[in-house]
Amino acid sequence: MNDSITRRGWIASLRGALAGASAGWAGAAQAQRYVHPRRVFLGENTRKEFREALEQGRIKAAIIPTGSTEQHNEHLALDCDATCATLISQQAALRLYPAVTVGTACPLGYAPYHMARKGTITLRKQTFQAYVYDVIHSLATHGVRTILVVNGHFGNHTPLAESIPEWRKELGITLDTETYLSAYRDDELAGFLTSYRLLKEGKLDTIARRTAMTHASEVETSILMAAHPGRVRAFTMEEYDRAAQNFESGYSPAVARYLEPCTREGWPKGANPENARDRARQEQALYATKEKGERLIEIATRYIAGKVEKMMEATEKGAPWPPAA
Ligand SMILES: [Zn+2]
Repeated sequence: MNDSITRRGWIASLRGALAGASAGWAGAAQAQRYVHPRRVFLGENTRKEFREALEQGRIKAAIIPTGSTEQHNEHLALDCDATCATLISQQAALRLYPAVTVGTACPLGYAPYHMARKGTITLRKQTFQAYVYDVIHSLATHGVRTILVVNGHFGNHTPLAESIPEWRKELGITLDTETYLSAYRDDELAGFLTSYRLLKEGKLDTIARRTAMTHASEVETSILMAAHPGRVRAFTMEEYDRAAQNFESGYSPAVARYLEPCTREGWPKGANPENARDRARQEQALYATKEKGERLIEIATRYIAGKVEKMMEATEKGAPWPPAA
């Protein structure tokens, strides 16, 4: 069905959506027709469509979203991180259409330190790394020479960062990873997010409040309100307090076994009391709005699209990646 829509050549507002994209890749000819927003997902194409796009040089790069299925306080769906990483990847690929395809997202990540909150599913670090490697390897085998892993969960950041240089060398492709949240600069966010303005003004008075940023707070809640409102529930602090959850003690020995290595690896357990931090996240989520989410999505999309574009240029020129400093 997508094909018939595309063939009918509906002139639509994609060009407007492209405004601000730095892309020479999203050439004028392609940009002037309607593109179904799910068209960029690899899995929604047939083998014929993907093969021909590759052979004709239309697809030049792939993005692989990685997320996590983990607790996001009382109000956000567990699959928040995979949903956000997929959303930003899709928006970036639309901007660079048809040069970029979005590979199947990895819905799980490395999140043992969230295991005291029920609903969290964590992979072992090695499982996560092996999974992502296999996805990259498959796409590289099909001839995709530029691949960016767009990550939506900070716990995956280090496992990816320590593996990518080795994989890049082994596969001989332009390969990198980027956590989309890295697009956000505290100063820029202070211009329109309440929690970051309070942080800048020194008004977040406890360590718990100062470290409750991003995860399940104003940032992620705003993004989901803008793009996936069905994944956000209404809540009050009275309801939160009534639930009387304790994440600092009283969990089973099986849970303790997940948490213990995290402490050893330097996760800020203890330094940041988990209960106070959890409550601070819930408080800061109350500042979220759909409009803030739209600005956050735009900033991250521009950042990711810009990075993929630079990577495709490097591949085209046979230049090294990452570029020499
Ligand atoms: Zn999250």
